[in-house]
Amino acid sequence: MSIKRKVKAVERLFEHLDREISAFQTNSGLHCVAGCGKCCTKPDIEASPLEFLPYAFQLFLNGKAEQTLEELRQAGPVCYIYQPLSLTDNQSGSCGSYQYRGLICRLFGYAATRNKLGQLQMATCKVIKEGQQINYSKAVENVSNGLKLPVFSNYYTRLAQIDYHLGNKMAPINQALKLSLEEVINYYAYRPYPRGIKRKSLF
Ligand code: SF4
Repeated sequence: MSIKRKVKAVERLFEHLDREISAFQTNSGLHCVAGCGKCCTKPDIEASPLEFLPYAFQLFLNGKAEQTLEELRQAGPVCYIYQPLSLTDNQSGSCGSYQYRGLICRLFGYAATRNKLGQLQMATCKVIKEGQQINYSKAVENVSNGLKLPVFSNYYTRLAQIDYHLGNKMAPINQALKLSLEEVINYYAYRPYPRGIKRKSLF
């Protein structure tokens, strides 16, 4: 499958997920706190390269793939895309590329994992659990009574069906971003560029 078709397939999966999340948010009343970027500052977020393929592809189309790859080589453990509001506050900030954020970013807060008994358990952050206690408790109860919400393993299985190798490999988020960019750059190294995009001269 071409990179372009993989990107489209990932985007279709994200559109489906976004609709599921939106329905769950309406039913549960749960929502992220405006301006909160706490979960993005965790240094141990893991993601697959495939979920960032749309991100890498749009950087490639905008001629920024090589430069971003270089910057990622110097990046620390916190997500490269994250934009803090200030250098002293590690709670307030936002995603610098919200439209192209990964699967993990979309799922966390509004999805469930399965425990050993196969029961669904909501995975959300402390800010939501503590700040929206009533809605959170109701949502937990409703989920145990059958309220539908996205399930991590279902979405990662569907992602891996698009490309097993890129969708099944989990890595620290900045490593996943690097792998994704390398995938796009290597793909076009010996292929014609997408229409309208000029190959940079090496000389
Ligand atoms: S891609 Fe965006 S939403 Fe995901 S961890 Fe990075 S900053 Fe946060």
